[in-house]
Amino acid sequence: MSNPIDIAELISQIRVLVREGDMRKAKRHASAIMHDSGPHHWATVLTCANILETRGPRAVFTLRRFWQASDPAARAIIAACAPQQGDPERRSPAPAIPEPRWTARTRYQAPRDIRTEIRPDARRRRDPDAARRQGRAHAVTDTYIRERGGVDDQPDPTERPIAYALDYDRAALPALRGLPCLHCFVELSEIADHERRDGLCFECHDRGRPGITTPTTNAAELLIARCAYIAEHYHRTAALTLLRREWNQVRDRHARTTITEWVTANAAAIAAPARSAQHELPPPCDCGSIRQVRDGLCVDCRQLDSSPVQVAA
Ligand SMILES: [Zn+2]
Ligand SMILES: [Zn+2]
Repeated sequence: MSNPIDIAELISQIRVLVREGDMRKAKRHASAIMHDSGPHHWATVLTCANILETRGPRAVFTLRRFWQASDPAARAIIAACAPQQGDPERRSPAPAIPEPRWTARTRYQAPRDIRTEIRPDARRRRDPDAARRQGRAHAVTDTYIRERGGVDDQPDPTERPIAYALDYDRAALPALRGLPCLHCFVELSEIADHERRDGLCFECHDRGRPGITTPTTNAAELLIARCAYIAEHYHRTAALTLLRREWNQVRDRHARTTITEWVTANAAAIAAPARSAQHELPPPCDCGSIRQVRDGLCVDCRQLDSSPVQVAA
């Protein structure tokens, strides 16, 4: 049984002999340690060898922890075992390639010869700009799918109304882009507005409805003629509403000034009753009624005159 200090000394000598290449003498020293050290110290040597063999870069740290937990005699052995400057580099053996474990159930399993390693320098850094661009692209796609997904921009014309009739409800939804017909208030076409200059749509014109009769040469005159027509043909409240709509519709600053000035100058014409109300009414019936008076008789009196016999029969 030899002194533990001798063990530490022998380990130091083994290190020197290995560096010098005298492996024969080194082996002799090693077998001396194996045979002459007690089981406790031999276990310490084996633990150190195991740590150095398996722990790789963390071996020194593990040895230090082992040293701290050991008694002074073991500490000397551990200190002698610790790697020193000039020691040959210890290479850990490559992990074994797993063999395919073929059984009746895993006959498809292929042998794996790919080793997994992590190379931090080859890792791709997260690019914040690219991430932002990606997020924006996703947002655009999501919005498109939410708002336009499944929308057919050119559907088959199967929903066309029967006989191509105008859907008045749908046609009334968009605002007018020009001035309306003075009689039926549909939007005037370009030709009706600029060439005929009677303030009427084609249909009203063709049916001979009353329009502007005053000849006009420019847009301002036509606008004044329209205002005069409205004041003449409508009662005050309706006339003011229509004139306000004309003002809203024209958009042009000078045209609006024209309308405002005309309305200010022609307040009396606007306040006057509509022309249709100024017709001379036929004289009332003898009973005082004015309902459908014809040949001096109102509708009720005419019915009284018809034969009561026929009514009784
Ligand atoms: Zn019309
Ligand atoms: Zn009468």
